[in-house]
Amino acid sequence: MKLYSTQNKQNQVDFQTAVFNSMPQDKGLYMPVDIPVLRQEFLDNLDRYTLQEIAFEVSSALLKDAIPADDLRAIIADAVNFDAPVHELDEKNYVLELFHGPSLAFKDFGARFMSRVMAYFLKDGEQLLDVLVATSGDTGGAVALGFLGVPHTRVTILYPEGKVSPIQELQLCTNGQNIRAITVKGTFDDCQQLVKQAFADPELNASLRLTSANSINISRLIPQTFYYFHALAQLFRKGKRSVVFSVPSGNFGNIGAGLLAWKMGLPVKSFIAATNANDTVPRFLESGVYETRPSVQTYANAMDVGAPSNWVRIMELFKGNREEALKMVLGVSYTDEQTLEAIAEIYNRYNYIACPHTAIAWLAMQKVQEQKANNEDVYVCLSTAHACKFPDVFPEEIARRIELPEQVAEMLGKEKSATAMDADFNAFKKYLLNAEGE
Ligand SMILES: *Cc1c(COP(=O)(O)O)cnc(C)c1O
Repeated sequence: MKLYSTQNKQNQVDFQTAVFNSMPQDKGLYMPVDIPVLRQEFLDNLDRYTLQEIAFEVSSALLKDAIPADDLRAIIADAVNFDAPVHELDEKNYVLELFHGPSLAFKDFGARFMSRVMAYFLKDGEQLLDVLVATSGDTGGAVALGFLGVPHTRVTILYPEGKVSPIQELQLCTNGQNIRAITVKGTFDDCQQLVKQAFADPELNASLRLTSANSINISRLIPQTFYYFHALAQLFRKGKRSVVFSVPSGNFGNIGAGLLAWKMGLPVKSFIAATNANDTVPRFLESGVYETRPSVQTYANAMDVGAPSNWVRIMELFKGNREEALKMVLGVSYTDEQTLEAIAEIYNRYNYIACPHTAIAWLAMQKVQEQKANNEDVYVCLSTAHACKFPDVFPEEIARRIELPEQVAEMLGKEKSATAMDADFNAFKKYLLNAEGE
């Protein structure tokens, strides 16, 4: 597999390099030089394949000889070891539940696949790989649990003290083994700044092999294509073949993977990109002007992104042409107030509890249906996280009814452990250097 930088098509690397660099030096993003279209027999008969078989079909077509078939099958068996069921709300409306992995968020697909791909390339016993992550909640949990126990790796997670939910904090601080948590007296931006400074520090880079696990890594994007095919497989079994996906979007990696899947032949009708008040992309699709803004805080806080990194990749799929993008992607955004109303409505109508991110995607597909004459289309909103991760958002009546999954029950009894630190780079650097060889 060859990948190019969106800043310069001549700048090409192999898959392994793209995985460890995350980002080209020129600050572009890696994109596959060749996006293969999958076999027609496979695309027509998705309902005959399991999630793991789909994962192999898709990833082997993309990766080509970067990882031999048997090794790739083993990576998939280990990484994709939980389901992504389609839940029926009614005949026309479905929820693709992506929260059945260890951290209860869709980021588990990306983080688990990435960690195992990295470990695969490290298997010859090279220097320990030090993964640094700043998190405002969901990314850290997925990366911590994704790398837990993965050989030749060590993860350091920085999160802002008091600013992640109790369950998110448990996911960051109860792991032990190769996972360390630092609680920073400051904001998420302070955490991110510390990590950025570490990557730029010559002394740290001389003694540690540092890597980021951030969402622009190509090995996180690829596994997110799997569940789109798997969703259609489940709908085909119900006789539904004309499908619109509604995707709650922040950094646009999730919907970016959906569009990559479409380029590979995913038989989908179209996508809805649903955002909270951070509406850079819907504004662009509407006006043609791409103007980023500082992010604003919302209830759907995993989507509080003012400058979505992956949008560049999506425009690349449409060769930079907004008109072409508009044929496939509808952009919409909703306020916090509308998000709360949507949560209440889903609960009242279907007795179903959706997290705030999911509720935004559900609301988007309702609005589209209201505007359109009834036809054969069915709508699937992607449910990106379990409601229990965002307890403060729900009214008491609904919050009481949220069932804790077994992943959480297991964590509740464990001791939390994190190192407290000021937002001070020297302290962070000392921590990283001192801990070497521990
Ligand atoms: C990360 C996240 C999103 C946003 O996904 P992107 O790929 O960044 O668009 C949405 N919902 C939840 C719960 C998330 O954790």
